Amino acid sequence: VFTRLLVSACLLGQKVRYNGSDKRLGDRLLALWQQQGRIVPICPEVAAGLPTPRPPAEIRPSDGRIFDDTGAEVTDIFETGAQIALTVAQREGCRFALLTDGSPSCGARFIYDGSFSGTRIPGAGRTVALLRRHGIAVYTPSDIHSLSMALEREDRSA
Ligand code: SF4
Repeated sequence: VFTRLLVSACLLGQKVRYNGSDKRLGDRLLALWQQQGRIVPICPEVAAGLPTPRPPAEIRPSDGRIFDDTGAEVTDIFETGAQIALTVAQREGCRFALLTDGSPSCGARFIYDGSFSGTRIPGAGRTVALLRRHGIAVYTPSDIHSLSMALEREDRSA
């Protein structure tokens, strides 16, 4: 039995980022997991109905609300995206996720500070925070080897 894994669609080469690009991860582990049928792709922002391209958005650390760089508040739509990602993860039996760091949805180690100046701060995106509250372990591309070990352990115990 292969443990299933929720993965940011942009890591899989889908051009769903705010600027219309992807963040394809060329790691052989990802290719292997795809062959094994483990991967469940998700872009929370696109799933919530946001267009691509779209204005970049950042979380305001003082209150957790999310704004795009035109000043429009997008908190609700990001929360909708997080809910959809959780629903998909639960429906597909994913207890692990590999998500793109830095994103106001998918960031797991760092996000940007809300000033649109490229300043990183430790923190988590909306989707990651919700997945974690529901017991899903979130990894970033830099932790892919620890994720691989965790998946192997889980496969053996399933
Ligand atoms: Fe990638 Fe997540 Fe941003 Fe979608 S919301 S483009 S999956 S980082």
